[in-house]
Parts: sequence; structure tokens; C-alpha cells
Amino acid sequence: MYAKVLIEYNNKQVDKTFTYKIPDYLTNLQKGMKVTVPFGIGSHTINGFVTDITDTYEGDYDIKEIIDVKDPELILNEELLAIGEYLKELTLCSTITAYQTMLPSSLKVKDQKSNYTKYITYVELVSEEKAQEFLNSNPVSKTQKFIIEDLLNKKRVLKTTYSSTALKVLITKGLVQIIKEQQYRLNYQNQVSEPLPLTEEQAKAVEQVEFATNNTYLLYGVTASGKTEVYMQLIAKALKNHQTAILLVPEITLTTQIVNRFYARFGNQVAILHSGLSDGEKYDEYLKILRGEVSIVIGARSAIFAPLKNIGIIIIDEEHSPSYKQETNPRYHALDIAKFRSKYHQAPLILGSATPTLESMARAEKGVYHFLSLTNRIGAAQMPSIELIDMRKELKNNRSIISKKLLNKMQTCLANHEQIILLLNRRGHSTTITCQNCGYIYKCPYCDITLTYHKSSNVLRCHYCGYSLIKKDTCPNCHEEGLIFLGTGTEKLEEEIQKLLPTSRIVRMDADTTQNKGTHQKIIDAFANHEYDILLGTQMISKGLDFPNVTLVGVINADASLNIPDFRSSETTYALLSQASGRAGRSNKKGQVYIQSYNPDNYTLKCVTNNNYLAFYRYEMQNRKLLSYPPYYYLTSLKVASKSYDLASSEINKVKKYLEEHLTATTIILGPTPAANFRVNNVYRFQIILKYKKEPNLLQTLQELDHLFLLNNQAFLEIDLNPVTL
Ligand code: ADP
Ligand code: ZN
Repeated sequence: MYAKVLIEYNNKQVDKTFTYKIPDYLTNLQKGMKVTVPFGIGSHTINGFVTDITDTYEGDYDIKEIIDVKDPELILNEELLAIGEYLKELTLCSTITAYQTMLPSSLKVKDQKSNYTKYITYVELVSEEKAQEFLNSNPVSKTQKFIIEDLLNKKRVLKTTYSSTALKVLITKGLVQIIKEQQYRLNYQNQVSEPLPLTEEQAKAVEQVEFATNNTYLLYGVTASGKTEVYMQLIAKALKNHQTAILLVPEITLTTQIVNRFYARFGNQVAILHSGLSDGEKYDEYLKILRGEVSIVIGARSAIFAPLKNIGIIIIDEEHSPSYKQETNPRYHALDIAKFRSKYHQAPLILGSATPTLESMARAEKGVYHFLSLTNRIGAAQMPSIELIDMRKELKNNRSIISKKLLNKMQTCLANHEQIILLLNRRGHSTTITCQNCGYIYKCPYCDITLTYHKSSNVLRCHYCGYSLIKKDTCPNCHEEGLIFLGTGTEKLEEEIQKLLPTSRIVRMDADTTQNKGTHQKIIDAFANHEYDILLGTQMISKGLDFPNVTLVGVINADASLNIPDFRSSETTYALLSQASGRAGRSNKKGQVYIQSYNPDNYTLKCVTNNNYLAFYRYEMQNRKLLSYPPYYYLTSLKVASKSYDLASSEINKVKKYLEEHLTATTIILGPTPAANFRVNNVYRFQIILKYKKEPNLLQTLQELDHLFLLNNQAFLEIDLNPVTL
């Protein structure tokens, strides 16, 4: 018997299979298994996936034998292999890239570390009778006596409890044996919380979901309307049918409250998968799924590939979150994979959000998705009142970044022992450092961006490539002491508020304060315990958090995200601001939200203040129609990247020519233009955008272009079908 083995070849994303002979001791070898094979010269080996098994081999030279199966519990089953094929088609990636994407890093073929399994070692008596006999008939040392009596009592004890020399003696005498057991790094106690009696709206939503179909449902539910309880009860239904469930949540909400609620309800039936886990933890969680020991997988984007069998329901929470799209090769959207699996298993797919994407809402309107809605907050909680503050007026008599009104409200709130959340979507201290004397501006030498000042470490840092520089007192250009700091980040905001409200207890949450594992959770726990009065930070603070004592939310600069040059900037602003607003007044205390802006007439901001998603949806749909953007048109982005400006520029023009020759006339070809990330780390990018309603030649043309560029080592083609950002 022979096997075709797919390996990662030459570091290039090229599919390449090699044929090996299957040795007699591997008669159970199956398609989809991972194997170690000899490769190249000497004793070099490599790992790969078995893609085919055949009886005969037609080649004319001696072939080598497979050495062994690696990770015998891992098999890419029929479904996963089919997902791999689909992923390839969806993103134009290679088969090996598709398989690698579906697996945690500890199980990818490249990984050389041999074993992630964590063991725990116990000692046991070989036989109690023998041990008794030994105690009675021999002169026994004190330690030996203690160990034997302890084991007679407790049966099984951690090996590290006892002196190893004494143990050694007992083992050689055949009295004691060592037991090695795998131990999962993450373990939960079953502290089962009971399902809540549902509100009428919630009950209706749960009832409307039809199991054993591949229906997609859009669950539009305002913030704090109890979507999570709906998810839990739907999942409970699936489990009752002996089926399994996947719940996707955005990366950042995973480390927080939602997971704890699931543990409390479902205990150790839950496995979690996200980037906050160590490789070992991910390995264990993945193994629990492979072994069928868990029925629920909660995770970020890549958890959509979890090897669950017999899936009964798939849920994507915060379905509008851009984190469901992978921004590196393969550029897939978890929603597409979810739809594939929904169909494969005949399992309903639920998309939940308070601010659905325009695409999803449009599909619900057309009846492609079934529409479910939760329009009220739970219990006595009301939607917060939201007010815009015109910062143009403030500017005349107040130079602070906090308006008088917001400051007043903060003071009242503090006096009432209530808590405050402030959103400023920019980290660091100051976003621009310039010299008053000569006009010099600090910029990254490798990227197209100004450096941000981080006061705590006194460095200027590039937020694209990480380049950093210690700040000096004088201007590097004119050597005068003329440096001034412009543009406020979270670090400076913290400083200012501490000055304005000296007795308030402030905690900051952004990428800088949450670098270490567990720090994110620590901040949340401390704020929930009211160890702090004010939580300020970047968009991290806007998602999925439920603090009943927060009654005031302030948005420092609503314009920052509105002004991003992207066709989705209104949509992302609407989502960000209403998510942030949704943190206020989640229990019986009424919430207030103040949004500071220099464009208070902006329609998106008005819709946020009125809490009117549907008005925003209708307005923005008109814009999209007018400008031929999704959901009216599909988009594909093509970028050519190169360290050489000239090469990037000439190659993108060739791409354009090729597209013009091969695509149909109705497809709009825009560009080339410098991409939004035009220069990062000294790599230049030019971009072409395609807009089309239907383009029969698209995939074929893109594939051909992709192949042409595989041979080019100087310029790279990045293709993104249905990009989330441009
Ligand atoms: P969402 O996910 O829609 O923002 P949550 O699921 O966080 O809302 O619910 C908000 C709060 O309401 C939570 O504290 C939750 O425990 C509570 N809750 C949800 N459903 C019910 C219910 N049926 N009865 C009582 N409390 C509920
Ligand atoms: Zn840089």
C-alpha cells in the first residue's frame, strides 16, 4: 500500500504531494492523518498529511517508507477535508495552507515540538495485602512506614508528596508503582446555574429557531436584551438532542464574562479556543473536542473549524465584528465557513447583534435570513439617554479635552458612588510630536505614519511596525527645546482626568496595559468590584461587558473613527458608539451617554443618539447604492506589495491590464492607487478594487494572476475577496 503525503514545500505556498510506502505496522493508516516521513538527504524528516491511499505505485524509482503517524488522535475527517477544499476556493490559498489554518499551532505540520501532553504522576500501592505484610514482617524505616500507611489510607497520592529516595526503595521492592495520567491544563467545576425564565420576546426567539434545518437567523437584539440567555437555551436544546454547538465571539470578549456564564451553566461540557491561551492549553482544549468529551465550543474566529461531530447549532455573537475576517492569507470570513457547516450538518445558524452589518440586515429584509428581534432591555433596565456635545462651542472657552458638561456629569456620578466608562479610540499619550521652532514632525522612517508618544516609557513608537525611539528634550532637526505634543491618546486622557478629579480612582485598558496574559481580566474584575470609579480605554472597553453600576459613558472623540477613509467607517462608528453606549444603565439605574464631536450634525451620530439602528440602516443603504458598494455590489481588493516602489508600481499596472483583458465589461476596475497601508516596514503597496454584481470569470482570472506571481520573489500579490476594510 502507498500513501500520498502533502507537505509544506520549500516554504512556498505550493501544494506538493510525495508518495511513500506504508509499512506493515501502519495498516490502520487513513486519509487525513498526519505522518512523519523521511525527506531530503540523510536522516532529515518532515511532517505531512495523507491525502490519498493507493494499492499500487507507478513510479520507477525506489520510494521511502512512512516513519510513523504523528498525533494519532488527529484525523482530518471527511467534513474537515471538504472544508479545506472550500477554503481553497474561497480564498485562493493552497491545500496545505487550508489545513494549517484549521489547526491549532501545536498540531500544524511545521511544529517540531514532539509532545504537548501534560502528565501528572501519582503513586499507588501495587497491592494492599503485600504492603500490610511488609509492614508487619520487616523492620521498616520511619519514612517508608509513613508512605505506606498514607497510601493505604488515600490509595493514590501525587508523587511529589514523598521523598524520592524513599520511593525508589519501595518501587524496587515492588510495593509501590507510578501512574502517569494526562491532565488538562484547563478544568472547570460544575457549578451549574439554572436556565432563567425567559421573557416573552426571548421565548419567541427561541421557539422560532427550527432545528435540523440550514436556516440562517438574524437575531437583532438591543444591548442588554438578553441575547446570551437565548444562546444558552438554544444550545441546551441542541445538547438535549445529543448534538453539539459552536458559539463564536469576538476575541476580546472571550476572556471576559460570557465564558464564565457558560461555564456556570454547562460546566466541563465547554471547550474554549482563542489566542489568549497558551499552545499547551489550546492543545488540550482541541483534544477534548477530538475525543468527544465536550459538546460546546466557544471561541474566536478559528474556532469555526473545531472538529466537533454532529453539530446541532452554530451561533455567531456580535456578527458585525470585523474580527471574524482573517486579514492575512487565507483571507476567509468565519461566516462563510459557518454557512458551509450549517448546510453540512443541517444545523441552524444564528447571527446575533445590536448593530448587524448592512449585508446581514439586507438579507433579513429580503427574507434570505429569518429575522428575530429583541427590542427591550431585560427587566427594569431602560435604554440609556444619549446626548451629543458640540466641541466646536467648547473650544471657545475651554481648552480641555473633556467638555464642561461631561465633567459635571462625572462629578455627579462619582458623588453617587456610581461608575463611569470613557472611550477614546487611541492609545498612547500624544499622537503627534512636532517642533514649534522649525516645524519638524516625528515620523516612522519605515512607514507612512507619525510616531505616537508613550509617556510611561518615554518612547516614540510606530503603531504599524513597532519601531521606537527614546524621546529627547531637544528637536532632532534644529536642536532647540521646541517640542510640543498634539493629539490625545488614552495615556494623556488618564493624566488629565486625574488632574480634574484628583480623588477618583482610574484604570486604563488598552493594548499597552493588557500586554501580559491575564491583565485584561484583572482590570475587568477590579472594576466590577468597584475598586475603580472610572474605566477608560480604547474600543476594548466597548464590547460585551456587563457592569450594573455603570451609569455614565463618555465618548471623548467620536470623529476619530468617522474620519477613517473607508466605505464602512459610518457603519463601524455606529456599531462602536452604540456598543459603548450599551455599557450604561444595564440594570435598574438609568444610564446616560455623552458623545463629544466636532461634527454634531453628522447623520450617523444623530442615529446613535436616537438609538435608531433602522434609520441608520436605511440612510447608509442609500449611500452604498449611490456609490456601488456592498451590499449592492461585491468587492475584491488586489494589492501588489514590494520593497521596491518602482516594481510595485509597474506590477500593479500589469495586473490592471490583465484584469481588463479577462473580466467582463460590467465589472468596475478602480485604481491602481496607493493602498491605505501604502508604506509599512518599507514595503510599498498599490491597490486595485473590483466592484461587480456578477463576474463569471472572477475566480479563474484571480487564480491565474496568483500563479503568475508565485514565481516572483520581489513582488507579491495579495488578493482579498469581500474585504472587510479597504
Ligand atoms: P446582551 O447579550 O443582549 O447584551 P445579556 O445577555 O448580557 O444581554 O443580558 C443582560 C442582563 O440580563 C444579564 O445580566 C442577564 O443575566 C440578564 N438576563 C437575561 N435574560 C434574563 C431573563 N430572562 N430574566 C432575568 N434576567 C435576565
Ligand atoms: Zn513604522
